Amino acid sequence: EEAGEPTFANPRNAAAGAVRQKDPAVSARRPLDAFLYHVSWSPGLVFPGHWQALEALRAAGFRTNPRSARGASIDEVIATCAALEAERDGLGYDADGVVVKVDALELQRRLGSTTHHPRWAIAFKFAARQATTVVQAIEVNVGKTGALTPVAKLAPVALAGVVISNVSLHNEDELRRKDVRVGDTVLIERAGDVIPYVVQVVLAKRPPEAPPFAFPERCPACGGVAFRPEGEAYWRCMNTACPAQLKERLRHFGSRRAMDIEHLGEAVLEQLVDRGLVKDFADLYRLTVPQLAELERLAEKSAQNLVGAIEGSKRRGLARLLNALGIRMVGERVARLLAMRFGSLDRLAAASEDALAETHGIGPTIAASVRKFFDDESNRRILDDLGRLGVNLTERTATADGPKPLAGKTLVITGTLASLSREAARELVEALGGRVTSSVTRKTDYVVVGEAPGGKAEDARRLGVPVLDEAAFHELTGRAS
Ligand SMILES: [Zn+2]
Repeated sequence: EEAGEPTFANPRNAAAGAVRQKDPAVSARRPLDAFLYHVSWSPGLVFPGHWQALEALRAAGFRTNPRSARGASIDEVIATCAALEAERDGLGYDADGVVVKVDALELQRRLGSTTHHPRWAIAFKFAARQATTVVQAIEVNVGKTGALTPVAKLAPVALAGVVISNVSLHNEDELRRKDVRVGDTVLIERAGDVIPYVVQVVLAKRPPEAPPFAFPERCPACGGVAFRPEGEAYWRCMNTACPAQLKERLRHFGSRRAMDIEHLGEAVLEQLVDRGLVKDFADLYRLTVPQLAELERLAEKSAQNLVGAIEGSKRRGLARLLNALGIRMVGERVARLLAMRFGSLDRLAAASEDALAETHGIGPTIAASVRKFFDDESNRRILDDLGRLGVNLTERTATADGPKPLAGKTLVITGTLASLSREAARELVEALGGRVTSSVTRKTDYVVVGEAPGGKAEDARRLGVPVLDEAAFHELTGRAS
């Protein structure tokens, strides 16, 4: 496996394959080893019992099994068998049982053998670890990090003491390599702590019409866009509100290097999600003190602190937000590069895969991942909500050294902007060298008017101050897309 070569289904196949090689040099390279248990022919050497034969082999330098034991009674033999089975996983090699032999060679001779087997030896078989069963369905599970894992639903079968009805097929490549299909009969194995797995498909029993399994392109838990980045083994659900991954995503969202929301601990998150109070990132910004105070182990004061911390996280900026969103392959560094290059979430979300890939430090693989993220409808809705709830979707430093088209200008913003929050708009103006004030005077250079503006729009007209709608504002700031 380490050499990247196909593995053998079991040790017997491996050993048989090694000795069957045409080139003995190839056989010699296979790391085979053996214990010797029997002396078949020894002219001039007479052993009174099997045990002495083993000792002679050992003395002559042959490998004999150090776990061989001599029992004085059948009870001792049974105890030894039980102990060996219990020790099975610590042997360092696979074993399917123990051979119990009559020790005295004279007794062996007198017992003789049937046409098939000697009467003086019998195998005590350990519980079976392989079984065949039928794949009734292949389901795809969503892990807490969004990884989609195919699982074979089996006709229940007893194996090494437990009933197996599910077995993981791990990922798309593994599923393709073994080519497991619904209706297939499969050989499964379970050994020690190893979880049960499919060894191989019994092709002779495949139903003639069984089609290859088609991996879903949508998340089975939420219907979100599924995506498999190049070089990764797993398809992943890109939807940040996917219920299967919500807790894990929220934990990351609030973590110190992301949105840095203090007091948003594991216990609080658990309750918020379980009670349905938070279904996506935006819901965090809708939480109220009374809602939080109802959670277990959260006093009024703590609830206030948490709401304050959430409020404070609105100002983290685009780079941290991008990291917080948990876009596949977008960590802190890439998030910063994207924030610097695009400056605002709107522009980033509108960028083509090619435009993304051309960004310094961002290759086509990351570009594809980012594009897939923004292609998910649920993500776009949540990001819109975040903007409306006042989360800063721009990066101040993006234009820190850039042009300052608004240097010395004073703006007033009134009404609701569709593409960015009041706070984000203010940050944008400031980043471009301008200033945002709250009331319109003759010194005001522009009044930006969004939806449902207040009296300030009237003031502007009365004082003859230029009025900009949202599109004109974007043009002014050079952010028109
Ligand atoms: Zn999902």
